[in-house]
Amino acid sequence: MKAMLLNKQAPIESEPLVYSEVDRNEPNKGEILLKVICCGICRTDLHIIESELPLLKIPIILGHQVVAIVDELGEGINDINKGDRVGVPWLYWSCGKCKYCIKDLENLCDNAIFTGYSVDGGYAEYMIAKRNSVYKIPRIFDDLHAAPLLCGGSVGYRALKLTGLLERGEGNLGIFGFGSSAHMIAQVALNKGLEIYVFTRGKERQEHALSLGARWAGSPTDEAPVRLDAAIVFAPAGWVMIEALKRLDKGSRVVLADIYMTPIEQLEYRHIWLEKEIKSVANVAPKDVKEFLEEASKAHVKPNVTVYMLKDANKALNDLKQGKIKGSGVLKIT
Ligand SMILES: [Zn+2]
Ligand SMILES: [Zn+2]
Repeated sequence: MKAMLLNKQAPIESEPLVYSEVDRNEPNKGEILLKVICCGICRTDLHIIESELPLLKIPIILGHQVVAIVDELGEGINDINKGDRVGVPWLYWSCGKCKYCIKDLENLCDNAIFTGYSVDGGYAEYMIAKRNSVYKIPRIFDDLHAAPLLCGGSVGYRALKLTGLLERGEGNLGIFGFGSSAHMIAQVALNKGLEIYVFTRGKERQEHALSLGARWAGSPTDEAPVRLDAAIVFAPAGWVMIEALKRLDKGSRVVLADIYMTPIEQLEYRHIWLEKEIKSVANVAPKDVKEFLEEASKAHVKPNVTVYMLKDANKALNDLKQGKIKGSGVLKIT
């Protein structure tokens, strides 16, 4: 089968992903062979390629927003059928036994395995999944628009839940950074009755936010017309988190949605004074993926998708790095 292989970490500009012919694995007991239709690209892929996260497997096939058709079932699987359309998110497997798993915090599992990081993912024509790593995708989403829901959407949804505003059903939510994850989460938040204030650089992104229903959009250093009841920082930049804290109301929380962030160098006590909180989001639990797919379907979330062919994955990730993708990038495989 064809796959984009990462053999060695390097800047994306040097095109480190290599279009290669690799052996296709057969599904063992409890596993499923998937024929991949498309796979979303994610900033995490870029963090792995460019050494901001360690390599866990060499070579590795990246890709953890996989939309695929069940091609072959391993022994012992009888609640899913050949031909079904499924999605594979970032969390590939969790142990179900550790102190986190038993509290529905599989995202913090001590033994977790991640798609396209600890095991091969979806930048390929086929991939092997576990029964518990696949999710049925609501019919209202076509293949290309379903892919970004599986990481950007689901992790963003976990961040949105952690703001505490969903239970309240009202409030001013600040969104810092407006890429793949943020533009989907804005749509869910609006559908849940929240007011959205978007802090992002670049006129085009600010206009995108306003067109989706944001009350206000400006740059991360601009003053918004209101104090924020919560903020989500999607930008992987420490200084942006400080800007978010400065705009928070008393007793409110800022949630950090990326797996990596540049150092937070200027944090002073006055930034968190008045009972302000900082919370990071790690990975995604199965419950988040299921709930998000449901909520996205109710809110008719429409990701803005830019499509690339599999062999152009280097270009797609380079465009992501340069901020050239409005919304989400998706690799078309078949
Ligand atoms: Zn566990
Ligand atoms: Zn991701």
